Amino acid sequence: MSEAATLDEQLEAFVGQSSGPATKGRYPVNAPMIHHWVEAMGDHNPVYEDDEAARAAGFPSIIAPPTMLQAWVMRGLRTSAHAEAARERGEAAATTANDQVMSLLDQAGYTSVVATNCDQHYERPLVPGDELEVTSIIDSVSGEKKTGLGIGRFLTNRLEFRDQQGDVVATMLFRILKFKPGTGASRPAPEPEAAPRPLRPRPALTQDNSFFFEGAKQGKLLIQRCTACGALRHPPRPACASCRSFEWDTVESSGKGTIFSFVVNHYPQVPAFDYPLVVALIELEEGTRLIANVGGITPETVEIGMAVEARFEDFDPELSLPVFYPATA
Ligand SMILES: [Zn+2]
Repeated sequence: MSEAATLDEQLEAFVGQSSGPATKGRYPVNAPMIHHWVEAMGDHNPVYEDDEAARAAGFPSIIAPPTMLQAWVMRGLRTSAHAEAARERGEAAATTANDQVMSLLDQAGYTSVVATNCDQHYERPLVPGDELEVTSIIDSVSGEKKTGLGIGRFLTNRLEFRDQQGDVVATMLFRILKFKPGTGASRPAPEPEAAPRPLRPRPALTQDNSFFFEGAKQGKLLIQRCTACGALRHPPRPACASCRSFEWDTVESSGKGTIFSFVVNHYPQVPAFDYPLVVALIELEEGTRLIANVGGITPETVEIGMAVEARFEDFDPELSLPVFYPATA
């Protein structure tokens, strides 16, 4: 018997097994949690918030948004942290069928994991007062598959959500791919000599912003100025936020400023840029702020409040931009 067949048999033996006793929801389905949810989602269907509207729609009272399903059985931060600490002390609770399948897959070299899909089915709407519990059952473990990410196996758990009567109110199939790292279709490494470096993305030029890029080609950092009230503004836009005038001209900035905030971009990497890429919000001494790259400095030494000054770099014949360097004065 081949080793692969042995693993198949071992995995197959777990199908249909439950991952331990049911997890009970901490709180019954309740209106305050529903309210927080719909507020966060921006979903103001009245059946979630207004009893009268819900009754008019044929429900006994407000209902919970179906996609809140998992929220009702989450065990909470404190319980999760205690479980994690116990695992670190080597006092893990009895391993579940799911833990054992994961462990078998790890041992067979499928050490990477990615969630692939999730299907939920609802049997009835949940209403305030419902008390949920969930059980998890190993639904299937696939044979070895070749995927874009790598050679792996799909593991599907079936979660059954039951109410206070023990009736199934919803089910969820949750599938992950456990795969062998480095066995997927990786993109070939770019060969610097083989192809010219891609150009930086083009700005979308409009009649309101093209002055900025034209100025940059001439080594000038231009700021839009309202000719009615004198307010400066950036990024460029058609009207003044102070007086709503559409009339404007530009003034040339000294190019001096300070780093108001910054991020160091590591990923995703776009071929036209060098990484790690320091991107800063620069506060110009004229008072407006702009986002720009920072040069002549490492991510370890860039600081908020650092004095900087603009230099202009021609990234290609069509695109010149200010890059801010530590001030020399
Ligand atoms: Zn104005």
